[in-house]
Formats: sequence, structure tokens, C-alpha cells
Amino acid sequence: MTLDDAEAFAVEQGWPRFRGEQVWRWVHDKGARTFDEMTNLSPATRVEFAAKAMIGGLTIAEVQTSKDGTRKLRLVTRDGQSIESVLIPMGDHVTQCISSQVGCAVDCQFCATAKLGLKRNLDAGEIVDQVYLGRRLLEEQEPGARLSNIVYMGMGEPLHNYDNLIKSLKILTNDKGAKLAQRRITVSTSGLVPKLEKLGNETVRPNLAVSLNAPNDDVRDAIMPINRKWNIGKLLAALKAYPLEQRRRITFEYVLLAGVNDSLADASQLARLLRGFKCKVNIIPYNPHPEAVYARPSPAAIEAFQNECKRLGMSTYLRIPKGDDIDAACGQLANRSNGSPVVPLRIRKGLPPPPPVE
Ligand code: SF4
Repeated sequence: MTLDDAEAFAVEQGWPRFRGEQVWRWVHDKGARTFDEMTNLSPATRVEFAAKAMIGGLTIAEVQTSKDGTRKLRLVTRDGQSIESVLIPMGDHVTQCISSQVGCAVDCQFCATAKLGLKRNLDAGEIVDQVYLGRRLLEEQEPGARLSNIVYMGMGEPLHNYDNLIKSLKILTNDKGAKLAQRRITVSTSGLVPKLEKLGNETVRPNLAVSLNAPNDDVRDAIMPINRKWNIGKLLAALKAYPLEQRRRITFEYVLLAGVNDSLADASQLARLLRGFKCKVNIIPYNPHPEAVYARPSPAAIEAFQNECKRLGMSTYLRIPKGDDIDAACGQLANRSNGSPVVPLRIRKGLPPPPPVE
């Protein structure tokens, strides 16, 4: 529920409106996972709430830790579906990659999630709960680590689950709840043109990343079937019209596949394509997975591609793969287990209550 939903729910139940906000703040500000933790509610009210509402859609089934410190969480929904979310250490802070769907229907040829097909959309509660579980896990296992950035780049195409995407963004950025800054959230899409146009008109303003991966339609058609519906021309036209906040740029993701899109000619075609765009390009050397038919280019080929991009004036960043030893890197999420033991989260009692509702 958004805060408005929670207040309307309270009124529907015949409770005072402020009760909705009170409980909502416990969940989204304080991170309560049970009604028992809500110490400023009477025991009778807690029982009444527990009979009519649920907190948290997910439980942690497994946490795998990479040698570089990346943690992959396998999370189970109430109906027994598995999804994954990844906590990536980035210097003094942590970025969390979250999922928006169970599986994905987009079928990018290089992606392990695509092999699962689409099972269902996650609801907004399941999307935000990944963040709350990530925060709790860090609190318990690495006190002092700060979860500062969220990227919708895990399993699923967020714009295929549009309403829940927007609802989750509104919840996560509400300053009475999780208080995440909009500029610290990035939504990554494979390029659903009509939904991009819609996203541009929303009041929530996350950063935008677009999975481009090709310098021309021939290559993109082959590796991203979505390109046959909305080709590069249509995609870039929609992005040109996208209202960007001041000092923000679109990020283009470019997964580098050996012999497919990694030549110097590809770099120069890419530079021509993106000329005049307020953008940066993240070069992501391909992360292989068991079903993969592609290979990661050699270090020399990766360096040569990036150097050519830079020489041609593109702002590029090389994304060093993180968590690839536990199948947690970009494009590898497919619910693979390594049998790590489950560490249950503590139920916290005695939390200071959220400030009183005016
Ligand atoms: S890369 Fe993203 S959009 Fe493409 S299949 Fe994988 S999860 Fe879906």
C-alpha cells in the first residue's frame, strides 16, 4: 500500500485515518516486519490489524556471498516463487539491484533470466520488500554499511510491470517512509517505447538506464527480439523526447559480446548513433552463464573498444563484473543455488516508534 492506500484502508475498517499512517510508518520508516513490533499500538489493535493485513511479501531463502563481497539473496514469495536481489559493495556504500518480475518475457538472448520465461509480475509490496530485507541484512551482518542506491536491473522488465513499478517508486521515495532520494534510484529498461513516454509524465523521477547493446538494428534484432517491435530509431526518438531533470543523463547499457558487438567499427557506429545525446555508456563485459552461447571479449578487446569510444568523445564507464563467481552479475540471475545456509533475520523488539502522527 502507498501511504494514501493505508489511510483509506484504515477508514474503510472504521478506524481513525491516522491509524493507517501510524502502521504504514512502522513498516516503511522503521522496517517493522510484524505487528508485534509496533509498540505504540495497543495489543488489541495489533491483533485486529494482523487479522486484516499482511506485512512483507518475501522471506530470505538463501544468501550467497561472492569473494568480492557481493551478496545474492534468493527470496521466496508467499506463493512459493523464487526471485533474486543483489547487494553490491561500491566503496563506502552499497547498491542494491532489485527484481520487478518472476522471470522475464523479453527474451534477450544473452540473459540467464530470459531462460526462465515470465512467471508473473511482482506486486509493489514484493518489490519494496527486497529493499527492506536488504537493509535488514546489512544492518545485521555489516553494521555501518549504507544502502544508498537502488537499481531496477534484476529479474524482469520493470516497464512490463508498470503500475507496480510506479507504486513501488512512490513508496520508496516517500519522506515519511524509506526516504530514498529519487536521484539514487535507477530504472533500467530494454526499451518499451510507449511505456517510456508514460514514464516521462510521472511525478516520480528516477534515473533512466536503457539496455542498448548494439550499434545497429541488425545486431540488436539478433540479440534483443524487442528491437523488431521498437527498433533503435523509435527508441532513440522516444528518449530524445524524454524529459530529463537538470544535470541528469540517460545511461545506455552496452553488454560487450565477443565477435558480436565489440569491434572498433561497432564503437564508431555507436558514437554516431549517440551523438548529441545527454548520456553516458556503461560498457559491461559479458558475464557467461551455463546456457550461454556468447563469450566475454578478451581484456585487450574490451580495452580497445572502450578506448575507441573515448576517442570518439563518448562518456563511457567500464563496469567491472561483480559477483560473477556466484552467478550474481549482470545477466546471470536465474535462481541458481550453491546450498548456502539460511541466516534468519532477527525479529526486532524495542525499536523506537516512528514520530507521532499529527
Ligand atoms: S536483460 Fe532484462 S529485459 Fe532482457 S531478458 Fe534479461 S531481465 Fe529481461
